[in-house]
Amino acid sequence: MNGIYPWFEDLYRKIHLYKDHEKLGHAYLILDHEGLGTSNFCFFLAQSLLCQADNKSSTWEDTCQCQSCGIFKSGNPDFLLVEPREEGKQITIEQIRKVSHFFSLKSHYEGQKICVVNSAESMNTNASNALLKILEEPPKNALTILLSQSVGLIAPTVRSRCQIMKVPEPSQDEIMALLSPNEKNSFLLERTGVSYFGNSFVGQDQLKSSPKELDSLIEDLHTLAMKEGCPVSSAKKYSNWKSNEFFNSIELLGRHLILMSYGHELKKLQLSTLAKKNFSILSQALPSDFVFELIADISVQRNLFSRSPSVRFLDAIETIFVQWVIKTRRSS
Ligand SMILES: [Zn+2]
Repeated sequence: MNGIYPWFEDLYRKIHLYKDHEKLGHAYLILDHEGLGTSNFCFFLAQSLLCQADNKSSTWEDTCQCQSCGIFKSGNPDFLLVEPREEGKQITIEQIRKVSHFFSLKSHYEGQKICVVNSAESMNTNASNALLKILEEPPKNALTILLSQSVGLIAPTVRSRCQIMKVPEPSQDEIMALLSPNEKNSFLLERTGVSYFGNSFVGQDQLKSSPKELDSLIEDLHTLAMKEGCPVSSAKKYSNWKSNEFFNSIELLGRHLILMSYGHELKKLQLSTLAKKNFSILSQALPSDFVFELIADISVQRNLFSRSPSVRFLDAIETIFVQWVIKTRRSS
């Protein structure tokens, strides 16, 4: 393993190609999903862009001993990382002022100066406005790389100043290739699958208590996917659920849809026979890409709802259902 996962190779090559042809932009917004290893990739990318040696193919080793690489891990003066000071905290304007100062200094090794902003959606409004100023008049040789899992939470003015790049979803083969032989037995594959698709595993105890209500959610997702029913009236049924129960339930169903499409059984869910049948139809009918997108949509709505008092729970449910309808209809 040379430090970069196979799903990053295209992105890596593209950026180096731009650099070789002197067409590198001054700001990139890299969109990813949790668990893909994108922040490590950004360090690797930054080191390779600052490296003074010649060969930067994707087999480039981050053990290079040029001056810039030699001090990269202990702190290269041409590299700056900005991220929330603690998980869940905001990125503040003071942190962005440091970026401005960093870019105002001359490059130490005559090359670029690179700033990576991790969890860019965590910038508060002031921070975001301050970054916008930098992006509007980027200093010479400045490269800003924003990294985010929630593009919807990044100010449109900031977004529009960046070239957007998406980290592609790894294929099942690519994931399998990274597992040791022991991990390939089905139990561990399932566990890897579940932790790969989201945060920690959400158990049945954190879901809506009655399996009947989970059944009804599956029935609605099924009906909407089959071009019947209306997303807005379906959404109303869930507005009296606790928001966490709704988000946990629909997210867990999404993860299980993906596991099912890889041939796993629904061992952990207590469902009626009809719900199981509907669920199985959905898992066969929908490409896993759509389900990945559904999970991403849920997480965007969940973040919006929890962070912004102006977003009503019912609006969040409606948006999830409307997106589900648009995506499933596009796929058929
Ligand atoms: Zn080097």
